[in-house]
Amino acid sequence: MEATRLILLGPPGAGKGTQAATLVTRLGIPQISTGDLLRAARKAGTRLGKEAQLFMDAGRLVPDALVIMLVEERLNVEDAQDGYILDGFPRNVAQAEALETRSIKIERVVSLDVPDSVLVKRLSGRRVCRSCGASFHMDYRPTKTAGKCDICAGDTYQRADDHAGVISERLQTYKAQTQPLIDYYSTRGLLRAIQGNGSFEDVRQAINQALDL
Ligand code: AMP
Repeated sequence: MEATRLILLGPPGAGKGTQAATLVTRLGIPQISTGDLLRAARKAGTRLGKEAQLFMDAGRLVPDALVIMLVEERLNVEDAQDGYILDGFPRNVAQAEALETRSIKIERVVSLDVPDSVLVKRLSGRRVCRSCGASFHMDYRPTKTAGKCDICAGDTYQRADDHAGVISERLQTYKAQTQPLIDYYSTRGLLRAIQGNGSFEDVRQAINQALDL
């Protein structure tokens, strides 16, 4: 069987992580989120995690060499041999070229389009469980008990990069560095752009269509 290698592209808060999770169940391939890998490295206190910290908290991209190393290591793991969904990688042209240089053939890239005003609302209200990583929202998906995860009762918190000043920096970083990937993958005939501003179910269906599922 050919491996299914997919990329979900879109600004922070577009819903890449949420939608990738449903594709994991549907396709039986892992979601590989560089944001999650970096946060795990920070939590584990590795050198890479410490180096990444300042960039992440400022809403800037972690240097390519570090992220590419992390991804390379992850792609070698057994469960990624039949394919994967990349979420948050590549985030600039140099990272996309790193995949090409390694002859990694991407089958399709789905980009989620969401207006800035919606992204700001989604990110600023987001709360994440410190223990299991589940994601909630103060208005759209509040926890049953304030500050406690519905799934594992762990403490929820606001990511440092979900604070107002950092959100605008992240959106600027996206426009300057990641958005050019839309043209990059479009010229390669791999891109399917969809509206990411609908309900979870609408977006899920649009992604399925874009992937011919
Ligand atoms: P995310 O969870 O995808 O929003 O990522 C959180 C932060 O991790 C970003 O704001 C960046 O600082 C860093 N990051 C995640 N993925 C990458 C990447 N592919 N390249 C560089 N930095 C990244």
